[in-house]
Amino acid sequence: MSDKPEKFIDENGIRLDGRRVDEIRPMTVEMGVLTRADGSCYLEWGNNKVLAAVYGPRELHPRRLQRPGEALVRYRYNMAAFSVEDRIRPGPSRRSTEISKVSGEAFEPVVMKQFYPSAVIDVFAEVLQADAGTRTAAINAATLALVDAGIPMKGLVAACAVGKVDGQLVLDLNKPEDNYGDADLPIAMTEDGDITLLQMDGNLTVEEVNKGIEMVREGCEQIFAIQKAALLERFGTAEEEEVLED
Ligand code: ADP
Repeated sequence: MSDKPEKFIDENGIRLDGRRVDEIRPMTVEMGVLTRADGSCYLEWGNNKVLAAVYGPRELHPRRLQRPGEALVRYRYNMAAFSVEDRIRPGPSRRSTEISKVSGEAFEPVVMKQFYPSAVIDVFAEVLQADAGTRTAAINAATLALVDAGIPMKGLVAACAVGKVDGQLVLDLNKPEDNYGDADLPIAMTEDGDITLLQMDGNLTVEEVNKGIEMVREGCEQIFAIQKAALLERFGTAEEEEVLED
């Protein structure tokens, strides 16, 4: 691992990777990359590479797990053994179990589960290359994979972290900022702005948390725009795409 940098932000307010404090890393997405999945999305965000696949709605076995009035949504976040510098031991860990739980819950208000009683919708988020912010990257990819699978949703979900380095709040932490920073606050939200995931590592004042949430809102607006452009590319007509480009 690299050593702690002396300074994370220079006198012009520019971070080590050239971004401003309120700027997210470049993000690209491609939907429908897996033919066997009902829905899929490959997402790159900075140096993160994530693949999301959705299977279902399909009958849930064992049947005792079925929910009579709605579908069960299962979310599995996994980091590939080769996704980080040191090999990760394959299989679930405390970290991945926790991330899976809270990430699945981030979709709770948007997925219209009532249309598929007794069914299961499985969401798999596989981190192929990790570089800080993988849980948020996975949520951004999973949203599009769910839409790709034709799951009825009230809207999209976007996620982004904010943190603190050199006494300043910074949006979308990169690896050194995540490793050596004072705080990491990953947040997911719906298009209505309702927060569906909020975790915090480190120390922030109430004012910083509030300001951080506003910075994440701005970041999520950009992510929603990227997600919508991907949806138009996949499902839109040429005329609709032109309107977006104008
Ligand atoms: P997130 O990826 O959502 O930011 P963390 O804050 O837990 O989650 O992790 C930050 C980064 O640390 C990850 O993106 C990854 O690059 C690295 N990392 C996490 N877990 C491990 C691990 N078990 N081994 C090596 N690197 C890891």
